Amino acid sequence: MALDPAFDVLDRRFYRYIIHNAHIDHLWTGGRWTEGPVYVPAGRYLLFSDIPNDRTLRYDELSGQTSVFEQPALNQNGHCLDRQGRVVSCEHRGRAVSRIGHDGSREVLADAFDGKRLNSPNDAVAKSDGSIWFTDPTYGIDSDYEGDQAVSELGGQSNVYRIDPDDGSITAVVTDMVRPNGLAFSPDESVLYVADTGISHVGKACPPVIRAYPLAPGGRSVSADSTVFATCDNGAFDGFRVGADGTVWASAADGVHCLVPSAQDEGGSTLVGKILLPEVVANVEFGGLKRNRLYICATTSLFAVYLNTRAA
Ligand code: MG
Repeated sequence: MALDPAFDVLDRRFYRYIIHNAHIDHLWTGGRWTEGPVYVPAGRYLLFSDIPNDRTLRYDELSGQTSVFEQPALNQNGHCLDRQGRVVSCEHRGRAVSRIGHDGSREVLADAFDGKRLNSPNDAVAKSDGSIWFTDPTYGIDSDYEGDQAVSELGGQSNVYRIDPDDGSITAVVTDMVRPNGLAFSPDESVLYVADTGISHVGKACPPVIRAYPLAPGGRSVSADSTVFATCDNGAFDGFRVGADGTVWASAADGVHCLVPSAQDEGGSTLVGKILLPEVVANVEFGGLKRNRLYICATTSLFAVYLNTRAA
């Protein structure tokens, strides 16, 4: 049986993650820019954003149907689950990070820093201590396409923020990026990975990298000594997820890139393979009951593929 040609093997280590007779599922199409997938295990569905159409969609894993979950949706972008399984949303138009309570109500977790409105929260990740970490570039206020055009009150977008689980306070944990975008922790939460998509506005002055920030003792901030984890060879990394063994599955212009971390003292990673797709990929998420199905938001479409790995 031939391997699906979508699997582009660059290093033999990629074989351990792919299933020889699995194929790419094209689950849905009709979006303008799909993003921000989050799998909700209790309901066996995937929520994802269609940002320019200002709607959040819901793919039902059992029926295979995709329907509108919320519209208007404050131009939501990234999503994640908090430690209690509640959906956390990054809202471009709301210029906030919010959470849907178990009763369905919207609660704002963050909408300002230093007394100034956030730009347009882009992506978020939950840490095991209950904190939520998020990025805040200006994509959602640069034009009216993905939010409401506005001038940045913060006057910058270099920061990654942390919302404290106890008192709700917001601190800037990373301050040295151009346009921080997707983010995730390594499985043991010793490293924070953040993609920089500054290339979209400053070009080659900002290479399309994922940076690795070692967490500081206590895990509430990061060390300033970040390193380049990977540089994208096709487009730029946007959203990504980390597999159980630490492998990073990152969005790129030509599909999903599989990045195996190097030994800790070396830093960096090896691009061992790609899942090639016909549309630009913005973000991915592990789903399915065994979390071994990678959902892929790619411009107008939602794809999925079963892998021989699972969510961290
Ligand atoms: Mg993003």
